[in-house]
Amino acid sequence: MSSIIYPTTNFTATEQLTIERGEGVYVYDTNGKQYLEGLSGLWCTSLGYGNRELIDTTAEQMGKLAFSHMFGGKTHKVGMELAEKLTAMVPVDNARVFFGSSGSDANDTHIKMLRYYFNAIGKPQKRKIISRERSYHGVTVAAASLTGLPVNQTNFDLPIDALGILRTDAPHYYRGALAGESEADFVTRITNNLEQLILREGPDTIAAFIAEPITGASGVIVPPAGYYQKVQAILDKYDILFWADEVITGFGRTGNDFGCTTMGIERPALMTLAKQLSSAYMPISASVIRGDLYDAMVEPSNKLGVFGHGYTYSGHPVACAVALKTLEIYQRDDIFGRAARMGEYLQRRLAEFRDHPLVGEVRGSGLIGALELVADKASGRAFDGGAVGAFAQRACEQHGLITRAVAGSSIAFCPPLIISEAQIDELIEKFGKALADTQ
Ligand code: PLP
Repeated sequence: MSSIIYPTTNFTATEQLTIERGEGVYVYDTNGKQYLEGLSGLWCTSLGYGNRELIDTTAEQMGKLAFSHMFGGKTHKVGMELAEKLTAMVPVDNARVFFGSSGSDANDTHIKMLRYYFNAIGKPQKRKIISRERSYHGVTVAAASLTGLPVNQTNFDLPIDALGILRTDAPHYYRGALAGESEADFVTRITNNLEQLILREGPDTIAAFIAEPITGASGVIVPPAGYYQKVQAILDKYDILFWADEVITGFGRTGNDFGCTTMGIERPALMTLAKQLSSAYMPISASVIRGDLYDAMVEPSNKLGVFGHGYTYSGHPVACAVALKTLEIYQRDDIFGRAARMGEYLQRRLAEFRDHPLVGEVRGSGLIGALELVADKASGRAFDGGAVGAFAQRACEQHGLITRAVAGSSIAFCPPLIISEAQIDELIEKFGKALADTQ
């Protein structure tokens, strides 16, 4: 064992797989074995590996200006260009953007931005945030408090109550519906629960509702039709801001530019972006807010004092240059259109596993999907613990496919957006063999 403390890993675990290089949609281990990267690293390497333009952009920018900070309005051209390009792309009105390095730190930024905003407009009591069960928003102390997964909270005594984080239902019909309940009734029940929560807590105390349009790390949950329309109507009624965490769903992943578009979420007030913003070639994130929220903070900030928040790497010039090039490639090569077509194909092929005795549910949208493995197909009884999911993930690796077991026994797929139809066939074939081994 090396001296690394591995992330999200039991301390008794031993090293599993040593990856050495990548090319296109494939990575290779130190023995030269090839794997189809079925999860884009960690839902992030949208343009695959070895992209020459991104490599050259990195080297050029490092040669030109390897670092410069953005504190106090010190700036650089590549950061400004990225902000312009990004804010023109997002479905957020007159967007303003704050740069960070990870999805977690971008969500922390939003928590502080919300507090600063409501202080600025004289509503300091409006600071609670509603997040959903089985959501994933990161792992810093504040972002892990937003996250609705026990695995990221147990043993850490997180300040969930102190931060004013409230929890509402996960919109997962397969796991959350009552016996005999229709999808429409399920949506009505859980959105009624949301409204009751708001009324119980007091609408004047609630700042925002955070949601991944389609969850990723917690099992790729696609909410039923009509869910977000009802949620948005409730939030509008009580003057609560919609905060879209698009760290996984942003940039073509779900069959459209953003997950909000796919799910019919109209003009969110806040958006969190990371991962595919730079195709993961450099760490960069963006906390995007609606222009009127920003405008309302400008004058009062003279009285309130400095927005005392910023990371050394906020607006890192090399990360900005790589993100800017990534966005250029997305547009120039119609990567989202291509991903939408390949996404339809992936969903069709994944659906072929629907009748498999181990598969309880197939879900997904665009180039993201998951198969939930169950102990009993008829009743939907789940496996105890994550052993079967971990076994299936290892079996995939043995057949040369990288996937990820999430939420216990769901196997997630999230290949690079550049994947071809033949490579999707290869993914399906390898997964089929791994599933056969899992029986
Ligand atoms: N938000 C969502 C929706 C995510 O999926 C993730 C990571 O997977 C994060 C936030 C946290 O991002 P990071 O791991 O870059 O801190």
